[in-house]
Amino acid sequence: MLDNVKVVLVETSHSGNIGSAARAMKVMGLSQLVLVNPQCEVDAQAIALAAGASDIALSAEIVSNLDDAVHDCGLVVGTSARSRTLDWPMLNPRECGEKFAQEGLQHPVAIVFGRERTGLTNTELQTCHFHVSIPANPEYSSLNLAMAVQTLCYEIRVAHLAQEAERYSEVQEQEYPRQHELELFYSHLEKVITDTQFISKEQPGLVMNKLRRLFSRARPEAQELNILRGILTSVEKQLPNEK
Ligand code: SAH
Repeated sequence: MLDNVKVVLVETSHSGNIGSAARAMKVMGLSQLVLVNPQCEVDAQAIALAAGASDIALSAEIVSNLDDAVHDCGLVVGTSARSRTLDWPMLNPRECGEKFAQEGLQHPVAIVFGRERTGLTNTELQTCHFHVSIPANPEYSSLNLAMAVQTLCYEIRVAHLAQEAERYSEVQEQEYPRQHELELFYSHLEKVITDTQFISKEQPGLVMNKLRRLFSRARPEAQELNILRGILTSVEKQLPNEK
């Protein structure tokens, strides 16, 4: 999914920002950097600020206009310090990360950043399906370009990790016992604590109800239930009337 994410910088003027953006991407596991008509070279300053991410800065794709940068993308999101300059579908950074994590599984997706001084033009913003604005201080809402790249790449990574964790937990869920196995466990437990005279057959009281509530809350996994059944069997073996 992360390989499907393009970070597009439009007409960047300061080479240091290209280097810092490359670094911001690499720490979040992204690698596809596209420069639209850059107004500077990927020079020594860019390489110095990229640090360990100079490979991303040096292998950036260079194109002459935004359409060329995003022609193969199924989702294009434009970034802006000013929210709602155009009446356009908006995402907050978290929603933007989630959209990228989902759609990035299917097709290339692009997040587009503007010029240091003037941002993206209205025409460029209208190329995008959605706009995203980092909810910064309304009195001073314009982040440095590379820091905006960092913030939004972080959201993409967090959403991606959450998606991975969800998939992993789906696999785990299959290891919960089935209802009839739980019922067998409760019968076994009731029998053993009756045999040990913890509860009496004539007046069992509410103990079993409370134990059921306890185990429902704890939600034992199949393996844990096996351990509990094993413990009950070991107790049974010690009881004088058991063979
Ligand atoms: N004066 C410009 C500021 C550009 S800052 C303007 O009003 O748009 C350079 C780029 O950094 C922006 O084009 C955008 O891509 C990104 N950026 C800066 N602050 C941002 C914010 N609060 N939310 C989203 N992107 C931001």
